[in-house]
Parts: sequence; C-alpha cells; structure tokens
Amino acid sequence: MAELQPIPDADLAPLTTLGVAARAAWLATPETPDALREAFAFAHERRLPTLVLGGGSNLVFASDFPGLVIRLALRGREKIGETADAHLVRVAAGEVWHETVEWTLAQGWPGLENLALIPGCVGAAPIQNIGAYGMELTERFASLEALDTRTGQVLVLDREACRFGYRDSLFKRPEGAGLVVLAMTFALPKRWMARANYRDVAEELAAAGVAEPAPRNIFDAVVSVRRRKLPDPAELGNVGSFFKNPVVAAEQAATLRERFPELVGYPQADGGVKLAAGWLIDRAGWKGRTLGRAGVHARQALVLVNLGGATGSEVLALARQIRADVEQKFGVLLEQEPITIGG
Ligand SMILES: Cc1cc2nc3c(=O)[nH]c(=O)nc-3n(C[C@H](O)[C@H](O)[C@H](O)COP(=O)(O)OP(=O)(O)OC[C@H]3O[C@@H](n4cnc5c(N)ncnc54)[C@H](O)[C@@H]3O)c2cc1C
Repeated sequence: MAELQPIPDADLAPLTTLGVAARAAWLATPETPDALREAFAFAHERRLPTLVLGGGSNLVFASDFPGLVIRLALRGREKIGETADAHLVRVAAGEVWHETVEWTLAQGWPGLENLALIPGCVGAAPIQNIGAYGMELTERFASLEALDTRTGQVLVLDREACRFGYRDSLFKRPEGAGLVVLAMTFALPKRWMARANYRDVAEELAAAGVAEPAPRNIFDAVVSVRRRKLPDPAELGNVGSFFKNPVVAAEQAATLRERFPELVGYPQADGGVKLAAGWLIDRAGWKGRTLGRAGVHARQALVLVNLGGATGSEVLALARQIRADVEQKFGVLLEQEPITIGG
C-alpha cells in the first residue's frame, strides 16, 4: 500500500452536490492507475463492495456505503494527435469537467462550450452521456480508456462500443458495471460551427447583441443561462435534473396536447416525442413544494433540492410522490436520472 492510504469511516456529504448525510466504511483517493489498482486489491482482500466517485453530482446516497468509495483523482490533459477534421485531446478521468471545457477553449480547440458548467469530473461524463443546450458528449467523443476490474486489463472503447443513448451508455448496464473510465479522448472539430439554436442560448446571445457568435460567446451565454436557471449546489444541494425527459409515442403526445395545448414536446427522429419533464412536474403543481427537508426548486421544477439537513430517503420519497402524481395526471412515467446508492 505504498501510494494509497484509505481513510476509515469517511464523511461523504461534502463529496456530493446533494449533500445528504452518508458515510463510507472506507474512502480512497487514487492519483495514479497503479494506486487505483491498489484500491481494488484493498477492497478485494476485505471482500468490500466498491463505488467509483467523481464529483458526486449525479448520486443520491439513500444510506451509508458499507465498502470502499474510490474517488478518482487521475490528472492530465494533452493533445495527442489530429485527424483531417479534428484535434484529438486526451483528458484523465479526475479532471474537473468545466475546467476542461475552459482549457480546451483557451487552447484554441472549441467544441465543448455548450456543455460548460456541468458539475463533476471528465471520467463520469460518458456514464450518462452528458448533454445540455443542444449537444451531447457523444458528438465530441473519440474513445476512452477503461480499467476492466474483472480482468485487470485496460480497454480502449470507441463510440460504438460505449453504446451511448439519451443519458445512457454501456456503463449503466450490467456488462459495463466493472469498467472504470481512466481517460477520455475528445475529437474537437477543426472547422468549428456555432451551435446556437437552442432557445435559451439564442435569446441570451440576442440580448448581448451577438449576431455571429464565437466559441467564447456561446460559452458565456451557456454559463449565464445556467447561473440564472439552476441552483448552485454550493448554496442549495441538488443533482441537477432529477428526471429524464420522457419520450412518448406521437399518438400519446397528440392526445395530451388536446388536453394541454401548451404541452412542451420535441419530435424525435424515431417518431416519438420527447416531453419536457419539468413542464409536466410544474403543471402537476409541484414547483416550490416541499416534503420534510427536501423540496422542488422554486424556479426549475425538474430540480429537487436539499433545503438543509435532508436525508437521501426524504429526497427519494419526494421523487416517488412526483412520479406517481405525473403518471396519474398525464399517463407518463418519469425515469430518475441520478443514480441511487443503497437504501
Ligand atoms: C447543478 C447541476 C447541473 C447539472 N446539469 C447537467 C446537465 O446539464 N447535463 C447532464 O448531462 N448532467 C447534468 N448534471 C448531472 C451531473 O453533473 C453529470 O451527470 C456529471 O457527469 C456527473 O459527474 P460526477 O463526476 O459528479 O459523477 P458522480 O456523481 O461522482 O458519479 C456518477 C456515476 O458515474 C460513476 N462514475 C463516476 N466516475 C466514473 C469513472 N471514472 N468510471 C466509471 N464510473 C464512474 C459513479 O459510480 C456513478 O454511478 C448536473 C448536476 C448538477 C448538480
């Protein structure tokens, strides 16, 4: 155990953005791939379950964790090559996502600016194929390196192997459960084109008088919209969107629109319609409501918040009530976005 010094009985609340009380039997913070292997050996010897943690911004602890939490701190960012169309930039899993977006812009390799200010680490970004303001990670993804903890091998996975979907990937399925992302390589376009048609971003740019946005204008617009619309986890514990936007059949969307002409929905390539979960929750009357010390954010119904001292179970109980009510009122089932641990 040369590099790794696991800490017993560690407080997890400050390591998550929701900030609910939870402890880990052990916590390790490996800074190198070798230290990461040591962490898994430590858990294996003691027959402990393991949990990989990045920035803790997409997790709800419903109870303490009885095993080893491994908080990845692998660092490093570099351009490793290029193709005719793209700069290939490799970033280690423990790098902070938003700082990485800023760094790529500063290097003159734009392409991630629509995904600015998403909390968390680079290694977690592929887990749910993060997306925001008209872009998903998969569009800038070249490959990733992952440690297969079942065999000890390091695998290189391309986009197809990662099986990205809407807030989904291989890593959320049983086949991908033993994989730990070590680093990701981005393909950042040499011929950059603004992605500015998402309504909030377009309005922000128009208000700033920007007609032909440069990458930095888009970055600033996204940051400003997010600061205005989403609660800052440093002030009010949350995990961002608590539910995915549900995709329903076109017929169901049409029937709903007859009852609710103002229904917010976006037609999908497969013929379905993606409904705005926030609109459904708001229309069901949940915005600003509380249950114990958990609440629905007053400005954004899709975000559940820790009003101070909430337990994970309280937040999850509120989520269950919302789901049941939305299903009853609209016949639409909401799927939870963050991952529940324990309970
Ligand atoms: C205010 C706010 C706004 C948000 N906005 C968005 C948004 O716009 N779009 C969006 O998509 N998400 C958003 N999120 C959710 C969240 O920030 C992202 O999902 C982010 O990628 C999670 O990163 P993390 O490092 O915090 O992951 P964590 O919460 O630490 O982990 C999430 C999951 O990934 C696993 N994991 C973490 N690192 C690795 C790794 N290296 N290898 C394998 N598994 C790993 C964990 O075990 C866990 O299952 C938001 C969250 C907040 C709090």
